[in-house]
Amino acid sequence: MAPAYKRILLKVSGEALAGDNSFGIEPPFLHGIAKQIADAAKAGVQVAIVVGGGNIFRGMAGAADGTDRVTADLMGMLGTMINALALSNAINRQGAKSMAFSAVTMPSVADTFTARAAKAALEDGYVVVLGGGIGNPFFTTDTASTLRAIELECDVVLKGTKVDGVYSDDPMTNPNAIRYDTVSYDEVIGKNLRVMDTAAFALARDNSMPIIVYALNDEAGLAGVLSGTSRSTRVGKPV
Ligand code: UDP
Repeated sequence: MAPAYKRILLKVSGEALAGDNSFGIEPPFLHGIAKQIADAAKAGVQVAIVVGGGNIFRGMAGAADGTDRVTADLMGMLGTMINALALSNAINRQGAKSMAFSAVTMPSVADTFTARAAKAALEDGYVVVLGGGIGNPFFTTDTASTLRAIELECDVVLKGTKVDGVYSDDPMTNPNAIRYDTVSYDEVIGKNLRVMDTAAFALARDNSMPIIVYALNDEAGLAGVLSGTSRSTRVGKPV
């Protein structure tokens, strides 16, 4: 089936790269994700990716341990760059063009992110892999995902999670939790449904950027989400 979107922003969490471990990068998971992304690019979808860093370092955990929060978040941002380099290289190895950008200036590591350069790369057929979040402490890569999607004029943010959409409560602990097919920004924020942080949803709401939440372990993978055949929840304007 033809992909439903021309340009997407895919959020890849650090956890997705760690696979069965809680730390580091597991090559089979890295290459599995890279293949799905390369296949989407080969099918003609322009793909921008924001990578997380939870498999390496989370600022909140560092701060809880006594490191000052700004330093801890800088460490977290560096972690996302490690993942960005790994993922960009893995996409290259799957036969698609890819380029990594960093929101934190580190010229010998990656080009510094500008919306102008990233859009030009997307139009040239590169998968752009964005590390460093938004480049500021006290933010997350979920907020970076919605921000970059808006800046790069993507059609949608795709956010993979452990479950196949947004539920009224945690379906892992509450068997009566109800799954939504669609849900408004105000409802996810008001009910504190916590699939992404509030800042990410508020930014998406204020700029009418839809977010599709799907299961990372769905057999159809990214292709299933892109063709609209997989189960997912659309967070957006009320219809
Ligand atoms: N981070 C930050 N600013 C940003 C994005 C990320 O300071 O704009 C830091 C923050 O410490 C965060 C860490 O990088 O904990 C890793 O990002 P995140 O927790 O979003 O990764 P994920 O959970 O998606 O793997």
